[in-house]
Amino acid sequence: MHRISALPTEQVQAYRAGAPDGYGNPPERAISNGAGNPCRHCLTYIPEGKEMLVLAHRPFPETQPFAETGPIYLCAEPCARHEDPDILPEALTASANYLIKGYGPDDRVVYGTGIITPQTLLHAAAANIFDRADVAYIHIRSALNNCYHARIDRA
Ligand SMILES: [Zn+2]
Repeated sequence: MHRISALPTEQVQAYRAGAPDGYGNPPERAISNGAGNPCRHCLTYIPEGKEMLVLAHRPFPETQPFAETGPIYLCAEPCARHEDPDILPEALTASANYLIKGYGPDDRVVYGTGIITPQTLLHAAAANIFDRADVAYIHIRSALNNCYHARIDRA
């Protein structure tokens, strides 16, 4: 089995405290418009009218050619990290399709694993990728905008 992992709470707290983002800038602050702004920590939509952080996040431990960095949203106020492996979080239910791809223990993409999968088949598609022994984890990204959503780890 596997589980969907949101951003670590420590990292989110650091961004809320003004830690530099993936490009060295302080997180921007903006007001959520609701359904378009999923938080990568609680994995729900930031309610319309609530303050949020907008920043570039690099979901890899260090810079290297495959360490894609891109925009994410986070609740500006403290929120509870998504922890339930058995449910598809709200933030992954709005789009019909998601891009998922496997990464090796060296944090580089494993060619041949990337696939755009219907949201309803996300877990099955992830299980197929984890059939490969050279895959350490999977990233879930927007199929249309390539934005990072969450990571899938072996349970
Ligand atoms: Zn949140």
